[in-house]
Amino acid sequence: MPRRRSRQIHIGSVAVGGGAPISVQSMTCTDTRDAKATATQIHQLEEAGCEIVRVAVPDAEAARALPDIKKNIGIPLVADIHFDHRLALGALNAGVDGLRLNPGNIRDPEKIKTVVQAAKERRVPIRIGVNAGSLPRARVIGDSSRSNTGASLSEHTEGVVERMVQLALDQVRLLEALDFDLIKLSLKSFDVPTTIEAYRQVADLVPYPLHLGITEAGTPWAGSIRSAVGIGTLLYLGIGDTLRVSLTGDPVEEVRVGFEILKSLDLRQRGPIMISCPTCGRTEIDLVTIAQEVERKLQRIEAPIKVAVMGCVVNGPGEAREADVGVAGGGGRAVLFRHGKIVSTVDEADLLSALMHEIDNAVRDWKKGKRRESVGDE
Ligand code: SF4
Repeated sequence: MPRRRSRQIHIGSVAVGGGAPISVQSMTCTDTRDAKATATQIHQLEEAGCEIVRVAVPDAEAARALPDIKKNIGIPLVADIHFDHRLALGALNAGVDGLRLNPGNIRDPEKIKTVVQAAKERRVPIRIGVNAGSLPRARVIGDSSRSNTGASLSEHTEGVVERMVQLALDQVRLLEALDFDLIKLSLKSFDVPTTIEAYRQVADLVPYPLHLGITEAGTPWAGSIRSAVGIGTLLYLGIGDTLRVSLTGDPVEEVRVGFEILKSLDLRQRGPIMISCPTCGRTEIDLVTIAQEVERKLQRIEAPIKVAVMGCVVNGPGEAREADVGVAGGGGRAVLFRHGKIVSTVDEADLLSALMHEIDNAVRDWKKGKRRESVGDE
C-alpha cells in the first residue's frame, strides 16, 4: 500500500511525516525528578536505537529537572503533560522538543490557548494524544457510522471510535484556529480494532502526521503481539509516521519491538534479522538454546544482516543458504553458510563460536561497504 502523505514536522532534529523514515519512540519509566536516573535510562534507549524519548512531567519538580535531562541526552525530548497546563509552560521554558497533551484532561480551551501560544513562539510541535481510557464522559454519541474496514465493530466500539475521532478533530480545530499547525496526532486504545479504526478514520480527515501505538498493551509478551497486530496493520495500510510500543517492562524492549515491527514490513532496517526454524521431530541439535543465545548476541549488532539458524539438514540448508550467515544442524554437527556457500562443518559444541565468527565477518563486510558508500557520496 502507498504511504499516506502527511505534513512534515520536526521533533528537534527528527523529521516526522512527509515521507521521513518512520521513527521509533519510547518513554522513560524513571522518576523524572531524578534527572540522573532518567538520563541514564535515556542513554540505554538511545543505544537501542530510540529516536525520540518522552518523559512524564507530573509536577513542578519534574518540570524543573527537564533542563538537566535535556543537556545530557542526544535525542529529542518530549514532555508528557496531564491536567496542569502550567507544567506544559514549564516544559517549554525548559527547552523540550515536543509536547504531548491529553485533550481528555486539559479541558479549559483558554489554558490550551496559553500553551499553544508558547509552543508557537518556540516552534515546538504538540501531539494531541487522545486515549480511549480518558474520553470526556459528557460527549454525546451520535449515530454510529459503519466501519470502513469491512470489519464488524460492536456498537460500543463504534461509539468509542467516533468519540475519539471527534475529540481529536475538536482539538485540531482549536489549534488551527490559533494558527498553529505543528500538530501530531495519536488515537490510542487498549483495544486493537478500536485503535485501527480510529486511526483509519482520522487519517482521511487531517493532513497531520500520526503517532501510532496500542496503549497499555501489556507485558512484553502479550504487549508485543498486540502492538505488532495493531501498529503493523496500520503501517501495512500506509498509515503512521512514528510509533511507540507500550510495554509493562524495560522500555529498551519497546524500542527493539518497534524496530522489529518496522523490519517485518521492510519499512526500516536496524540490526540483524534472525530466522530460526520452529523445531520438529527432525531437529537434531539443541536449537532452542542456540537460537536464544544467537538472538541475545545479535542484539548488540547494528548491521542489517540476515542470520538463519536451522535445526536439520532436510529443510535447514535452504533457508541457511538464503541468509547472509546460516547454519543447519544435524547429528551433532552443523554446516555453516556465508551467502549460500558452505564455509565449514563444525561439531555442535563449536557451533556458537563458529557462527559468531562468521557473523563478525559479515558485520565487518557490511561496515566496509558502508565506508565505500560514504566515500562514493563525497
Ligand atoms: S528446518 Fe528441519 S528441524 Fe527445523 S522445523 Fe524444518 S524440518 Fe524441522
